[in-house]
Amino acid sequence: MVDLKSQYNTIKTEIDTAIQNVLNTTAYINGPEVKEFQKELENYLSVKHVIPCANGTDALQIAMMALNLKPDDEVITSNFTFAATVEVIALLKLTPVLVDVYHDTFNINIEAVKKAITPKTKAIVPVHLFGQCADMEPLLQLAKEHHLHIIEDNAQAIGADYTFADGTKKKAGTMGIVGTTSFFPSKNLGCYGDGGAIFTNDDDLAQKLRSIANHGMAQRYYYDSIGVNSRLDSIQAAILKVKLPHLDAYCQARQNVANFYNNAFANHPNIITPTTSDFTTHVFHQYTLRIINANRNELHQYLLENDIPNAIYYPVPLHTQKAYQDNRFKNEDFEVTNELVQTVISLPMHTEFDEEQLTYITQKVLTFFTK
Ligand SMILES: *Cc1c(COP(=O)(O)O)cnc(C)c1O
Repeated sequence: MVDLKSQYNTIKTEIDTAIQNVLNTTAYINGPEVKEFQKELENYLSVKHVIPCANGTDALQIAMMALNLKPDDEVITSNFTFAATVEVIALLKLTPVLVDVYHDTFNINIEAVKKAITPKTKAIVPVHLFGQCADMEPLLQLAKEHHLHIIEDNAQAIGADYTFADGTKKKAGTMGIVGTTSFFPSKNLGCYGDGGAIFTNDDDLAQKLRSIANHGMAQRYYYDSIGVNSRLDSIQAAILKVKLPHLDAYCQARQNVANFYNNAFANHPNIITPTTSDFTTHVFHQYTLRIINANRNELHQYLLENDIPNAIYYPVPLHTQKAYQDNRFKNEDFEVTNELVQTVISLPMHTEFDEEQLTYITQKVLTFFTK
């Protein structure tokens, strides 16, 4: 699905030097690279505070801990996302309230969010799925009216821009009270291990987030709250520092691949290509098709047999997962998610394709439907 090796080869000298520097100084934890990367990411995102941490799941957990959410508080999120989003809600004994998504963008349905708000609702977690922003303006408005926190799960859309009605642009992950991301190797800004970060423009919240990520320590050996141990290590920060200046080019490369795929599949009776909303750019963490009036699972197998990696994100709706079953979830409330799990398929997407590879992939996909 991704070609991390070719990408590494294009920046090998810089990466190797950066890693060697950490080895030479032996500042494996909290080395200067961590602070430097933090500052550079703050600049890139135009956000006041970046709090690096160990992974994207921790980032979500720390964000929810810092907002003082209490057991039984309801947190609304999308039914069509990676499990981490709902896992941390449940882990903190908050009540996950899953809602349906839109057919065309796979992102959280604003009307469904509205309907799900109760007096117990305390937060909404939009996930910017597959690389484009959820519709933040109406969500922010709803949050304001109902005094709710917005936590953006931005593990998949770092670098995407959201445009407000008045023309203001903001980076994905910087619009809610807090945003989170993951630097898992296959993410759009990936390190060579685990990594994550939290974003906020709120000074007090930033201090709390930092403290919680560091055992709840306020000053050395004084603990104001119960925290966790969640750090981005220096080697990963050094790698991310090398990769961050390439992020916009990486987004562009992904968009070029998406354009190639879109052109190849345009107006095909069995293939619906991804839709990008007007208010957002799309950085294509995944390139996800919907297959109609044809057998998606057979296509999946056929491509595998032809050495084309492909994946079903996500094959099972969260509301039917054993871990997250809840009487309040009614199957009929998830009409779109229930359909998407049957019809979506994601094609290989990365920054290092040549045209020959893309031609092979698109031709095999098209051949499947004429077999
Ligand atoms: C990858 C991902 C996460 C979790 O990130 P990790 O770094 O793997 O913990 C959370 N949410 C979404 C939507 C993701 O895609």
